[in-house]
Amino acid sequence: MTKFIGAHVSAAGGVAEAPVRAHTLGATAFALFTKNQRQWHAKPLTPEQIQLFKQRCQQLNYGPKQILPHDSYLINLGHPEDDKWRKSLEAFIDELQRCEQLGIQMLNFHPGSHLRQISETDCLKRIAEALNIALEQTTQVIAVLENTAGQGSNVGYRFEHLAEIMAQVVQQDRIGVCIDTCHAWAAGYDLKGDYEGVMQSLCNTVGHDKVLAFHVNDSKSALGSRVDRHHSLGEGQMGWTPFKQLMQDPRWDQRPFILETIDPNRWPAEIAQLKQFMHNEHREEVL
Ligand SMILES: [Zn+2]
Ligand SMILES: [Zn+2]
Repeated sequence: MTKFIGAHVSAAGGVAEAPVRAHTLGATAFALFTKNQRQWHAKPLTPEQIQLFKQRCQQLNYGPKQILPHDSYLINLGHPEDDKWRKSLEAFIDELQRCEQLGIQMLNFHPGSHLRQISETDCLKRIAEALNIALEQTTQVIAVLENTAGQGSNVGYRFEHLAEIMAQVVQQDRIGVCIDTCHAWAAGYDLKGDYEGVMQSLCNTVGHDKVLAFHVNDSKSALGSRVDRHHSLGEGQMGWTPFKQLMQDPRWDQRPFILETIDPNRWPAEIAQLKQFMHNEHREEVL
């Protein structure tokens, strides 16, 4: 069994550059933005860009479980104001469509923020409502909710929030979850002191089969601080132990593990270390 390990690489120069960059890192998975993440509008992808992306992913062995694009930071599917919620919804549909065009099967996104204008419950409801519309207007792509650090008025910092959104989604086969380790830590989930307890509560709320991906980041900020500050693996408050445990946990085989750590120069070494942890598990199995 195996896990797919990579990083969120740049798509500068076009989406087809992303798989090339990932390959250079020694990555077996990658994340990317399919458009500028800080702008609402983007030019449609050209047939040439689409074809080149698909061709390179095939050549470099990046299959559907190994590519996890992230949507724009501007999108807030839980926005309390109808016109802005609508604008986010339209941008999210565009993101899903871009994934479909590229033959990508998952789209990772942050649930949303209530901006202190509505309750968390109402915010979660609006997110689910947006997802139902967006999924109806597209085919195939799975919407992958990411847990948050709970910074500001972001929802999604409790696994229960993710479960509550998912429970309201009609197309159950097109919704899943990505766990960001730094966000979980900042939200108060002690992956360092109680890895198994955190995984149990994840499986008991979201469910094992719904956890489709991980973001592997150490944290500069303290446990439960609700401050989202990523750090290089082993350099932050979490240390290497939880990442070793993740890599050696057979429950999470066949998932992509994406680095969003702060120093891209370290990515090849971080990927190599994670792979080594993973292979050690196999060696232990043989012995
Ligand atoms: Zn993340
Ligand atoms: Zn983050």
